[in-house]
Amino acid sequence: MADLETFRKETRAWLEENCPQSMRQPITSDDDACWGGRNPAFKSEDQRLWLERMAARGWTAPDWPKEYGGGGLSKAEAKILREEMARIKARPPLHSFGIWMIGPAILKFGSEALKRQHIPPIVRGEIRWCQGYSEPGAGSDLAGLQTRAEDKGDHFIVNGQKVWTSYANKADWMFCLVRTNSQVKKQLGISLVLFDMTTPGVSTRPIKLISGSSPFAKPSSTTCASRRIKWWGRSIKAGRLPSTCSLTSAK
Ligand SMILES: Cc1cc2nc3c(=O)[nH]c(=O)nc-3n(C[C@H](O)[C@H](O)[C@H](O)COP(=O)(O)OP(=O)(O)OC[C@H]3O[C@@H](n4cnc5c(N)ncnc54)[C@H](O)[C@@H]3O)c2cc1C
Repeated sequence: MADLETFRKETRAWLEENCPQSMRQPITSDDDACWGGRNPAFKSEDQRLWLERMAARGWTAPDWPKEYGGGGLSKAEAKILREEMARIKARPPLHSFGIWMIGPAILKFGSEALKRQHIPPIVRGEIRWCQGYSEPGAGSDLAGLQTRAEDKGDHFIVNGQKVWTSYANKADWMFCLVRTNSQVKKQLGISLVLFDMTTPGVSTRPIKLISGSSPFAKPSSTTCASRRIKWWGRSIKAGRLPSTCSLTSAK
């Protein structure tokens, strides 16, 4: 308990010294939020600095293991950090589908190589991820998805189309649900693949909302993907990066 009190004191002092004043204001618009990525759009130097300082301590992902760049905090310590940030109204340093969605899955199911490849850049906010689940014919009934991935041993050939993919046009990598087996019950024939959005064959088109803004995109994933992680009971396989890609036109 004394240790936790010390941790609280040190955390409070560190935040006081390192959280810029402008990062202690509520987020009022999308660009107030820092999403990181290969081409990060920082609204201010303070925003950049806040991410850099928090990421250097692994505090963008406070309770992830230190060996992959996380903060290595216990649950109790992470709670104290959240409380101390709330006390000074500090903004989260990073908004990230990597931290919220795919990172925890990689940590739980991924191979050692997969963790080493993806977790540190997620913690540092260097790679922005999007979620490729919904399809034109597979929404609430996700198990109806049609995007196919052909297992080529050390890589996959992926063909299909996703839709309503938030920030697909800004993302660097996608975690994508694909059908790898059509012979079994539809819920079981699905795998999760990860691919770089710059892979030849991947393209996105924005979907304009009635407001005129466009947070969604329609990526056509006609590409290859390199990694498979356990998903709905399927086995883990981490292959090397693909050397070839197959292209077909989007549906
Ligand atoms: C803010 C937001 C962000 C999103 N971001 C992403 C993203 O980044 N990536 C991604 O993959 N998806 C994303 N989605 C999800 C995606 O946009 C779709 O909303 C979702 O997949 C549902 O599909 P749909 O709109 O085609 O609806 P449908 O599945 O066609 O459903 C339409 C209506 O029918 C009902 N319905 C569906 N099936 C049945 C059934 N069998 N029986 C009775 N009623 C049924 C549903 O409840 C719903 O009311 C996001 C959604 C929201 C709201």
